[in-house]
Amino acid sequence: MPWHYWVLRKFATAEPPKKWEKILEELKGILPAKYIDKIEVASFSIRGKRTARWQLEKDHAEYSTKQNALGAAKRLTWLLLRSKNAPSVSDQLISLLNKYRGFTEEITYCPICKEIINFEDFKRSGRIDPISIQMGHLTPLSRGEEGHNSKNVVWIHRRCNYIQDEQTVSETIDTLRQILERHGYKISSKS
Ligand SMILES: [Zn+2]
Repeated sequence: MPWHYWVLRKFATAEPPKKWEKILEELKGILPAKYIDKIEVASFSIRGKRTARWQLEKDHAEYSTKQNALGAAKRLTWLLLRSKNAPSVSDQLISLLNKYRGFTEEITYCPICKEIINFEDFKRSGRIDPISIQMGHLTPLSRGEEGHNSKNVVWIHRRCNYIQDEQTVSETIDTLRQILERHGYKISSKS
């Protein structure tokens, strides 16, 4: 069963996410089904299991409300559509995602290595390719500070997600700086 139907069925027990359905209709015209699945799996389920985040115990690190999971899906959709060489977006879709688009982003890049993410990168195999694209959190969920929501989700390289591990982005960069300094590199302070 495609993820899309699974997600809608999960939602069907409560208020249906009409806006998300509208967004999906638009996305189906421009994105491969695999990409739509990727957004939904990352946003709504945990580690590829067919368990919705909002069905977890509230103290589970991966828990989020349905509202926040939908916000995460919209934000990840926006970031995917801002990757390099992504298909152009209709005004209708822009208005549906408007709240989640961010203000300064011209293009989507990985938060750790800062390399621009290409639309084609979303096709890379998550099993073997270090620069395949995963969903990540700017502040890890294990911190219990920021949850799974539109302000905290990002697309990140598999490699960079491993490097980040349970650190925030700035802690990760600091770790990398310390490693480089121990290897004899001189790092000037941030401009
Ligand atoms: Zn990266």
